[in-house]
Amino acid sequence: MVITNELTINKKRLNRNMEQLAEFGKLGDTGVCRPTLSAIEKQAFAKVAEWMEAAGMTTRLDNCGNLIGRKEGKDPEAPVVMTGSHIDSQPNGGRFDGTSGVLCSVEAIHTMSEKGIIPDRPIEVVSFCDEEGWRFNKGLFGSRGITGNLDADELNRKDKDGITREQALRDFGCDPEKITESVYPPGSIHSYIELHIEQGPLLEKVNQPLGIVTGIAGPLWLTVKVKGFAGHAGTVPMDMRQDALAGASEMIIAFNEIVKQDPASTTVGTVGDLKVSPGSRNVIPDEVEFTIDMRDIDKDRRNMYEQQLRESCRNIAEKHSLTVEIIEDQRTDPSYCSSWIKEVIRSESMDMGLDAPKMMSGAFHDALIMSSVSDYGMIFVRCKDGISHNPEEYASQDDLAVGAELLYRTLLKMAQHEAH
Ligand SMILES: [Zn+2]
Repeated sequence: MVITNELTINKKRLNRNMEQLAEFGKLGDTGVCRPTLSAIEKQAFAKVAEWMEAAGMTTRLDNCGNLIGRKEGKDPEAPVVMTGSHIDSQPNGGRFDGTSGVLCSVEAIHTMSEKGIIPDRPIEVVSFCDEEGWRFNKGLFGSRGITGNLDADELNRKDKDGITREQALRDFGCDPEKITESVYPPGSIHSYIELHIEQGPLLEKVNQPLGIVTGIAGPLWLTVKVKGFAGHAGTVPMDMRQDALAGASEMIIAFNEIVKQDPASTTVGTVGDLKVSPGSRNVIPDEVEFTIDMRDIDKDRRNMYEQQLRESCRNIAEKHSLTVEIIEDQRTDPSYCSSWIKEVIRSESMDMGLDAPKMMSGAFHDALIMSSVSDYGMIFVRCKDGISHNPEEYASQDDLAVGAELLYRTLLKMAQHEAH
């Protein structure tokens, strides 16, 4: 096991920065509310930019609202190695989600600069705009922005106060008219690495501070609409009913059985929302709508399970004399991390005396978007009880320091010409 007082990175500085950043938008003792493109995020960006500059980087805010720090390489024309995450939070979020990745990256560059190391390729640290997505109901904005993946109506999206994304960007100091200027030309990003808290319980279970991410499970989001016929709860005999909720309940149980059929697989499935109409205790439900979130790193398996789900729904609907319609809301392909980056992370972590397990990410990150234009990898840091998006979210100072050390070593390798 690595001894934390033998680290190259400065653990004290990293922890001080983590603590100071947690003050921006602080909620209670340990919570954070730092909405994207808000005045509080602007202040936090100014602080992070100050740390980036102290770390030897030049800084800029692009027109998508990304804060970018750049450490120049020996070859300034070379495609850039990127690292980063986000510092916007959930409305009642924690101190580590996103911030860990940004500040460990800044610490890694600071260490390089102090040691007088100039990497072959330039390295950029990005704090991506609106990863979380709740303010305008669509996230990963900054990473979609620089990779040219924004939708046409993106700037017209409104928050709950009626402020458009366009206005919020303007208020933040960006020029939405020039948003496309933020897109990196094809081939100009060499590779991307993101450190993030795990947001799950596996590392804690195996008692390891860090994990090597093998890939990100793409989510499939469906809405299932079941229609039956309303009637009096007291007078319609059971065998004459078209009860949409009775049918939907069977469908939900069937869905759970489908995703659990292979205990060795990492497939997960969730029904997180259910609407019952008319929603009266003495009326047989005539319409039920529920959501499906299914994630898997194996796309073929996910497709197979989806077909099984569709068939089950049809059969159950028939049995109850119902109709069923399945609407596809989002279909994101899973993506595997690049083997050469996983290999760099693996050999550096072994060199540090760690036995970092390989694991997939069930949550999506800016890294998933970056994978559309560049090689990528991710490092996970253990977090207490797997809790995130919650003030209880916690990663220890030691684990974060070891994470920053592994990120530092990995970045050094990724930024060498001979790396890949
Ligand atoms: Zn995050």
